[in-house]
Amino acid sequence: MNTPQDKTSDKYADLDFDPDALRERYREERAKRLRADGNDQFLEVRGDFAHYVDDPYIESAIEREPLTDEVEVLLIGGGFGGLQAGARLREAGVKDIRIIEKGGDFGGTWYWNRYPGAQCDIESYIYLPLLEELGYVPSEKYARASEILSYSQAIGRHYDLYENALFQTEVTEMRWDESISRWIVSTNKNDKIRAHFVAMANGPMHRPKLPGIPGIADFKGHTFHTSRWDYEYTGGGPEGDLKRLANKRVAVIGTGATAIQCVPFVGETAQQLYVFQRTPSSVDVRGNSPTDPKWAAELQPGWHKHRMENFNGLVSGVPQPEDLVKDGWTDLIGMMIRNFKEASGKGLNVPEIMELTNFEKMNEIRARVDELVEDPDVAESLKPYYQMFCKRPTFNDEYLPTFNRPNVTLVDTHGQGVDRITENGLIVDGQEYEVDCIIFATGFEVGTSYARRAGYEIYGREGHSLSDRWADGMSSLHGMQSRGFPNCFMMSISQSAFTANFPHLLEELSTHIAYIISHALKEKIETVEVSKEAEEAWVKTIIEKGTGAMGGIGGPECTPGYYNNEGRPNPQSLQAAPYGEGSIAFFKVLENWRAEQSFEGLEFKS
Ligand code: NDP
Repeated sequence: MNTPQDKTSDKYADLDFDPDALRERYREERAKRLRADGNDQFLEVRGDFAHYVDDPYIESAIEREPLTDEVEVLLIGGGFGGLQAGARLREAGVKDIRIIEKGGDFGGTWYWNRYPGAQCDIESYIYLPLLEELGYVPSEKYARASEILSYSQAIGRHYDLYENALFQTEVTEMRWDESISRWIVSTNKNDKIRAHFVAMANGPMHRPKLPGIPGIADFKGHTFHTSRWDYEYTGGGPEGDLKRLANKRVAVIGTGATAIQCVPFVGETAQQLYVFQRTPSSVDVRGNSPTDPKWAAELQPGWHKHRMENFNGLVSGVPQPEDLVKDGWTDLIGMMIRNFKEASGKGLNVPEIMELTNFEKMNEIRARVDELVEDPDVAESLKPYYQMFCKRPTFNDEYLPTFNRPNVTLVDTHGQGVDRITENGLIVDGQEYEVDCIIFATGFEVGTSYARRAGYEIYGREGHSLSDRWADGMSSLHGMQSRGFPNCFMMSISQSAFTANFPHLLEELSTHIAYIISHALKEKIETVEVSKEAEEAWVKTIIEKGTGAMGGIGGPECTPGYYNNEGRPNPQSLQAAPYGEGSIAFFKVLENWRAEQSFEGLEFKS
């Protein structure tokens, strides 16, 4: 029988590329990037680096007396997760809700990420939650950050979530008080709030990370992280026009989804821009367009969920009667379906067709670099050599042409990263690049412990911390509840599901959490806790069906990144994987569980 390695076979005869050569190239590129230190290569933003997470957007600091009151439901985080959970709880009749939010307003990711060019890269008609509930249609296919931030605030107003919310307030600890069956939630404003139920919507990527480049603290110029864009320094705003950079030499470290969006704006105005690249992103066509008012007016009730499910089906490889979103995310699947039709009779099996389609898609991405970048050496450096979805795909029409500008230089570190930072600049391959400012587009913590990413520890029954409890691996039912931590819910992809469209997952988790909490409140139930058996069974399911840290994408054969625990999958990261049968099956698991109305696996105490 033929194998994918069998390049001489007829089935590969009509290809205009050599799959073996590509496989070998991918392996070489991955090997170049593998590092022994994995996640430890990054610095945590605390101590001397804590100022990197100061809020540059607040107009005035909130001064208030500490609170020691009680609420029925406390939601930690005022991003989409907290807002969606708040919305579904309100709809289920829960009145006493408080959101605690570190930022000065609702918005979460979209509160913090205001860098120039920030916009959603999942279509806004499916990315923005609760569109039908609010009667809103975004103004563009890919809405900009300021519109998404305003929309987040509109959700807050629509569901009365401003009432009782605490902004500029950071949770510092959660501790279960057995004597009163309540959580005591402490904050940096000295609050000690009692909460009957808590849902933690901390966000999957809210803790910025810095590269542990030697000398990072020596630099005498200006620095900031993209998630705290310093418009004081750069001038301009999210729409660009960064005029204060006109006499500045600027370094951007990182070439992930954030850099792809902000680099064109920095390149447009900076006197000199150096982009320090370790791994190139795949940069596909953006193709943004304003919303057609006629189309918007004709949308029928139920359109939003239908569109979300259509997209999720396609990107999960489940054929749909039509492709409603039709963009770079669904294109790969479209190619796959065409290839399946053409492959009949050629003796190709499913993994072979998938691999070939992926090669073809990435060949297109690489050809696009040649089309848009004038210097052939620079173009070569910008080509990604890994499978699509090994890294987060990006979509942008201005990033690649930015490297044609005379004031913009790509510094290709050949997978190694910046060697050293000095008082005056950055060193790569023995050459120093002197700059006035370093912008860290280096992303967010993903593979570190839950408490470190959340920024606070959770102490459950008998004072046991969540970090200790999960030291050997995460343990939960449906990724939302963990034994020993009653009345506490988590919203994340770990042991739940991975979807390219993250708010879709939040929608399903919110519905589920609201169902359990509203039932408990109605029935005057004091504590809700997962049984030992149910939790063990779910963890076993996750491990048995496990397909890696991101549910099959970014596998161990991929170039390192946060999708695969920086190329170092370990038993803990595999145990925290999303449900291996995919998000559609996971949503069905939750739906069926609720439909039974038996609260299987939960212990209630009145
Ligand atoms: P990423 O983690 O995706 O990228 C970080 C970048 O920093 C990578 O290019 C990484 O290189 C580079 N890097 C890290 N350390 C070094 C070093 N020592 N020297 C040089 N380079 C280094 O972060 P982003 O903020 O770009 O994106 C995070 C996620 O946020 C995205 O994956 C996406 O999920 C989301 N996002 C969504 C957007 C949207 O919806 N519109 C827009 C932006 C982000 P390497 O790849 O080699 O590790």
